[in-house]
Formats: sequence, C-alpha cells, structure tokens
Amino acid sequence: MNAPFLPPRAATAPVEAGCGDVTIRQERGQRAVFCGLTGIVWLHRKIQDAFFLVVGSRTCAHLIQSAAGVMIFAEPRFATAIIDERDLAGIADMNEELDRVVRRLIERRPDIRLLFLVGSCPSEVIKLDLGRAAQRLSTTFSPDVRVLSYSGSGIETTFTQGEDACLAALVPEMPRAEADAAPALLVAGALADVVEDQFLRIFSELGIGPVAFLPARRAGQLPGVGPNTRYLLAQPFLTDTAKALEARGATRLPAPFPLGVEGTTRWLKAAADAFDVPEARFEAATAPGRARAGRALEHHREKLAGKRVFFFPDSQLEVPLARFLSREMGMGLCEVGTPYLHRGHLAEDLALLPDGTQIVEGQSLDEQMDRARVAKPDLTVCGLGLANPLEAEGLATKWSIELLFTPIQGYDQAGDLAELFARPLVRRTRLEV
Ligand code: SF4
Repeated sequence: MNAPFLPPRAATAPVEAGCGDVTIRQERGQRAVFCGLTGIVWLHRKIQDAFFLVVGSRTCAHLIQSAAGVMIFAEPRFATAIIDERDLAGIADMNEELDRVVRRLIERRPDIRLLFLVGSCPSEVIKLDLGRAAQRLSTTFSPDVRVLSYSGSGIETTFTQGEDACLAALVPEMPRAEADAAPALLVAGALADVVEDQFLRIFSELGIGPVAFLPARRAGQLPGVGPNTRYLLAQPFLTDTAKALEARGATRLPAPFPLGVEGTTRWLKAAADAFDVPEARFEAATAPGRARAGRALEHHREKLAGKRVFFFPDSQLEVPLARFLSREMGMGLCEVGTPYLHRGHLAEDLALLPDGTQIVEGQSLDEQMDRARVAKPDLTVCGLGLANPLEAEGLATKWSIELLFTPIQGYDQAGDLAELFARPLVRRTRLEV
C-alpha cells in the first residue's frame, strides 16, 4: 500500500561510526511501503488469545486477507469491520455498529481474552474515537475481555510500525514492578516461540532471571515493569514501545540486534554485563551456539561473499541486516534504505557498518529505482510491490516481508537468515544454466 511520506524527524547528518563514517541522507517523495496493518499477520500468531479487529475499508480487508492468506486453514484471529462512508451525524450509529460487531464476535469466540481495535486511514475511521470505543467496550466485557486500540493507518505507520503501536498499547496494561524488586530482564519485540525458548535457555545458563517477553504469549501473562526492569530490544522498530517502557522506569540495554553470530553475541553480552555475569560463564554459555552458527554460515558464505546488495526501505531491519551481510557474509553494500532510522536504538549497529556506507532514510521511489538500476546490485531487498518490476529488469530480489515471517534471530537461525539471501542468487544461477 502506498501512503504519503512521513516528514523527516532529524536533519541530514553524517554519523560518526566506529570503523569510519556512514552517511545518512534523507529523502522525501513517493514511497512504496506497506501500512502498519501488516503487523497483524505475525502478531495474531504470537499472542494466542488475542483478536485483531481492523476498523477499516474494503481495501484494508483485502490487504489483510492477502497478506495473511497463508492462514486460510486456521480459525483466523483477525477480521475487518468495514466502515462505509458516513457524515459526522452518523458517528453515533457507527459506534453502535462497532459495539454490535464486537458483541457478536465475543459471543462467537469465547476464547478471546484481548481484543485490539485497529484503526486505519479512511476518513470515516479517523472520525471515530477508537480509544474511547476501546474503553467503553473494555468496561462492558470486563473482566473476561480487555479491549485496546492502536492505529495501523498508512498515514501514521509503515509496515513494522504496526507492531510498535500494538506493543506500546500493551505497556500501560503491564503490572507495576516495585522499585525494590530484584533486577529483571525484559525482551521487547515479537520473536518466534522457538527463538524465545532458545534465548530463555541461554539466559538461564548465564544465570540471568527472571526473564520475560513483550508481547507475552497469552494476554494474562503480561510481565511487570518498573525501575528494576532492564530491557533489550529484539526489533529495531519499537520507538514508541521503548518510550512507554522508559516512562515506566525501565532502562534499555544498548546492543546491536540479535542477527547473525556477532549481533546475537553482543546482544547477549549486553544483558550479561548488566547482570554481572562473569566472562568465563558467558564464554561457556555462548560458545556452543557460536560454533553451530559459524558452521551454518560457512555454507552460505561462498554464495554471498563478494556480491553486492541494495536495500529499499521497508521493514526497518535494513541496518542490522546490512551489518550482518557485510561483516559476516562478506557482501558489499550499495545502498541501505530504511523508512525511518532511530539513531539511538541503532547506534551499535551503525558503528559496525563499513566505512562509507550510504544510508538513505525515507524514500523518493523514482530516484531510488534509478540508483538501483545504475548500481546493478546482485541482490535487491525490497517490498512485494517492487519485486516484480525489478525482477523484470533483471535484478534478483528478496522480499523483506519474509524477514518478519521467518525466525531469523539468534544462533540457531543464523544459517536460515543467510539462506534467505542466498536463495534468490542460487535460483537465478539455476535459471541461467
Ligand atoms: Fe490501505 Fe490505509 Fe487500509 Fe492500510 S490502513 S490497507 S494504507 S486504506
């Protein structure tokens, strides 16, 4: 879905990086990025007793249906309440209609414990106060069902920012942890269950605990948060969630994101240092994972080393991915486009990028397409809408949305992460043969 470009949030400036400078340039213009509704596709699988009700148009319903088409055999935990055109005088009716839809849904699906009303861009939806509707419905269905709201509108959010808005809506619901409680670790950002379990095992070997995850797998398991909470971001697009956690007293542990061997090790080390884990214990707990991941990466390195990659802005994962591909897989970086760059949360990843890396924040689609044509990268990472035209022009592409659907964090997923980039190159070689 195309949506208007968000205004830049800081001035263009070269950033001092550890091994040289990276240049961050901002661009404004037409962009091709999914809206925040897309996050529902992975979030509804993560929070097992939640339901996402998009309040939107037929376009929103089509987006969700086609993006989540893979779930066709499952009882879906998302739906769209289609709001037709109304004038302001029709708002009271719309609220009644919304209440009716929600009542019917909850009667039919008694397993729902947490209901998200997800806002979208049509003007009829913008007129509706979904925050107030959520409060009203929460009172009606309390204590069985909690109702929260957030916006997935393409005017306010891109693609992964839907997850940020959803998690930020959950933070006020987290119980208060007392200031004198023992330090606790919180991992913020949706991760596949298998990845969470692997991290839990490593944290346990490090002697770090209690450890909790946001979002929790069930609505009633939201962890406490307070001044004793140290948190690690598992995803680089959680600006509002981080702000909300810090407003509750939590402290972020700065680290690169846990992609690849280096990212995972440094991410775990940030927690280990905050919890005073001795060096020898850290070595012992992480050595087997590092060795396994190292072996898994070797296999793909021969296909990726020396190849050049171009990132179109889409998922906000672009900077940590670029760091992984350049430092661990030996790839060259033509351009690293990202819809929005949080300089603080990404400082550790930025510092590891090679000297001279070109980062472009925001998008001016035509200009960026022209630069990609001139650069002729071996691999282009982009959204679904750009992949076909670029393939038709002879460029090998990787859909960035796959990086959200596939478990890629941690040691045991490092090989799968590399394979996601190697596969389009291998396929192209086969086609050429
Ligand atoms: Fe399109 Fe807006 Fe609906 Fe997203 S929220 S599908 S951009 S109309």
